[in-house]
Amino acid sequence: MDRLRVTLEESIITTQWVRDPETEEEKSQFEELISLLMVTDIRGRDDTWAWNLESDGGFTVKSLRRRMEQASNPGPGLGFEWNNWVPLKVNFLAWRIYMGRAATMDGLRRRNVHLDSYLCKMCGEVDETEDHLFSGCQFALAVWDCIAEWTRCPRLFAFTAKDITTVHNQVRGSTKWRKLMQLIVMVTLWGIWRSRNDRVFNDKEASVEEVKHGIRQLSLLWFKYRAKRLLVTWDQWCNMELSCMSL
Ligand SMILES: [Zn+2]
Repeated sequence: MDRLRVTLEESIITTQWVRDPETEEEKSQFEELISLLMVTDIRGRDDTWAWNLESDGGFTVKSLRRRMEQASNPGPGLGFEWNNWVPLKVNFLAWRIYMGRAATMDGLRRRNVHLDSYLCKMCGEVDETEDHLFSGCQFALAVWDCIAEWTRCPRLFAFTAKDITTVHNQVRGSTKWRKLMQLIVMVTLWGIWRSRNDRVFNDKEASVEEVKHGIRQLSLLWFKYRAKRLLVTWDQWCNMELSCMSL
């Protein structure tokens, strides 16, 4: 409990460990913990159950009905769309970005986590906000350029990280093509996030080419096995031969 001091006004997390997380498992558990804290509202009082669709925390059928209507008919551009062609953990990252809750340096600062520096580790030039890391940083821009070139889609125009999570809605084509574009966007966000974590936690630097290769490999793996397009080959995937993809 000394890691988390909670008062009525704020919660302060300190990460002065005896030693830093070392093994892959420890690092991923630590990441998971930070991510959970980002979406958890901790207050300095006893735990209670609350219905968060009402501001006073009380349950009402009306609020439940309203939420169910929204979920079944979110309308264009509203609401976050989950994609079952990618694993849940990748959906969750995109969802956290959509909600402005990714565990970036700036996100941690907003949760009162004290760090020595809040600078982006990829460029070291400005504070690491979500918008910077996923859309403004030179590293992210170079990755998005590669993705645009590969998919032959115009380069993404997104001023905020949240815009990126819904950009597939602006792509022309069939529903399945848009779903594929969403898959590629989600895997790209995942790839940027993984290489950022490698830099932050392991001091490992990946080139844009390596990140692009990883994104293509992972996205093909999930497209083949989760969207059941088992016959798509690596060459077809790299050349975006859509005629082989049953879209
Ligand atoms: Zn940067």
